[in-house]
Parts: sequence; C-alpha cells; structure tokens
Amino acid sequence: MILYTLRCSHDHHFEEWFSNSAEYDAKKQAAALVCPDCGDKEVAKAIMAPNVGKSHGAPAPAPTCGTPMGCGGCAYAGQH
Ligand SMILES: [Zn+2]
Repeated sequence: MILYTLRCSHDHHFEEWFSNSAEYDAKKQAAALVCPDCGDKEVAKAIMAPNVGKSHGAPAPAPTCGTPMGCGGCAYAGQH
C-alpha cells in the first residue's frame, strides 16, 4: 500500500491509500479521485516536502546579514 498526499485545484490537501501507483493512475483516469473538502475532481499528487539535510550532505549555511559581529538589530537577530 502506498499513501499519497493529493491536492485538488483549490489547494486542498488530503491523503489516499493505493495498492500501487498503477491504481492511482487508473483512478485518476476514471476521475475517481475526488477532493473530500470541495468535491473537485481536478486532483493531482502533491509534491511531498523534501526531507533535506537530515541524514547526509552539508548542513544548511547559517543565515547571515553581512555584519557578523554585533548585528542585534538585523532580521536574523538571535539566529546567528
Ligand atoms: Zn478541494
């Protein structure tokens, strides 16, 4: 079973279980995917939020405001 996060054309997100990706394709072809919020059939797979930088790769660079010393008033105060 695969859990897909789906998104309708009104930007509602919901989840549906499928046996496999072929079942998703078949249901999409048959317009059997319906948004539970608004009944919209313009439903597509939502882009899953990428899980970046948790297990490998370089950590994201710290935000910077160009004044490395004493930048208490900048937008990043307290973050660096
Ligand atoms: Zn909707």
